Amino acid sequence: MSTGFIPAAKPLVGDEERAAVDAVLVSGMLAQGAEVSSFEKEFSEVLLDGRSSVAVNSGTSGLHLGLLAAGVGPGDEVIVPSFTFAATANSVALTGATPVFADIELEHYCLDLDHVESLITDATKGIMPVHLYGHPANIAAFRRLADRRDIKLFEDAAQAHGAALDGQRVGTFGDFAMFSLYPTKNMTSGEGGMVSTGDPVIERNLRLLRNQGMERQYENELVGFNARMTDLHAAIGRVQLGKIKGWTAQRQSNAAFLTANIQGVRTPATAQGAEHVFHQYTVRVDEDRDGFAAALKKEYQIGSGVYYPIPNHRLPSFKRVEDLPNTEIASREVLSLPVHPSLTGGDLERIVVAVNQLAGAGA
Ligand SMILES: *Cc1c(COP(=O)(O)O)cnc(C)c1O
Repeated sequence: MSTGFIPAAKPLVGDEERAAVDAVLVSGMLAQGAEVSSFEKEFSEVLLDGRSSVAVNSGTSGLHLGLLAAGVGPGDEVIVPSFTFAATANSVALTGATPVFADIELEHYCLDLDHVESLITDATKGIMPVHLYGHPANIAAFRRLADRRDIKLFEDAAQAHGAALDGQRVGTFGDFAMFSLYPTKNMTSGEGGMVSTGDPVIERNLRLLRNQGMERQYENELVGFNARMTDLHAAIGRVQLGKIKGWTAQRQSNAAFLTANIQGVRTPATAQGAEHVFHQYTVRVDEDRDGFAAALKKEYQIGSGVYYPIPNHRLPSFKRVEDLPNTEIASREVLSLPVHPSLTGGDLERIVVAVNQLAGAGA
């Protein structure tokens, strides 16, 4: 068995990334340029079956600019989960639109289709499911619902690079989709985000909005941001893109080992036809989850994470009164165990022994 602390996440950056950054530094061309456009093309080929992608400086910018590019603004409502990272709802609020919080299902912790449908009003402009933990939301059904009700579908795929449903990649269902490239995500560019879209109008708006509203220098067509990715970041991302398939396979095999051996806590389920990329491996501890996590750390030197302890609707930034029972259960009980690709066989055995001992002791 291994020794030492096992962290909950571990970004993998090696000599190739360092060499790629160094080459950009030596070139003297640091801002958005050839590396960014190559990264966009390669991201589309490797992860999106060719659908276009636009690089930006963070995943949050990607959601914000994507919503603006799709015409979301004041007076509109966008239905989002409350059980997600705050960036999902923040991006809606930043456009001046209102995030409307829907409940999740407890199998995969993604948006509940029926609850979402019950919340659609005349003001609803779109639905934004999150492929939480790397498991695809019920996204084909959301596409059909959006088409039937004549509203838009946006995907928060921040955690789901390479995930798929019935062979179709996430990021190819929505009017746009966003992938985060933050260091703890399945691949990184340092900071960064990639927005995919099959809609040429949204794509053009995105390219304008990230660059002060300019296509041609100093001929600003609209009021935009500086949300450009740098070539330094793109160079890191391009190297990581070459490794994402192997890392995902390693995450999936780590998850399979944990599921085959863990007892006494609820292990994550994968829906029929879904490819889960295990950004997180999330179990449910139904009594004293926080005590369980503290003991994992103190007695077994194993890190873990709670994503997310406070649902968005109850955050001081939103403060809404909602009745979202599954969201409440999940935020009380979920615990994400290490599943990252640098775990050794000995690390995985230690995690299983620790979880089974703590679960047995609690029963
Ligand atoms: C990480 C994350 C984001 C935001 O991405 P950043 O690159 O950190 O801005 C948005 N939504 C979800 C679900 C995330 O996990």
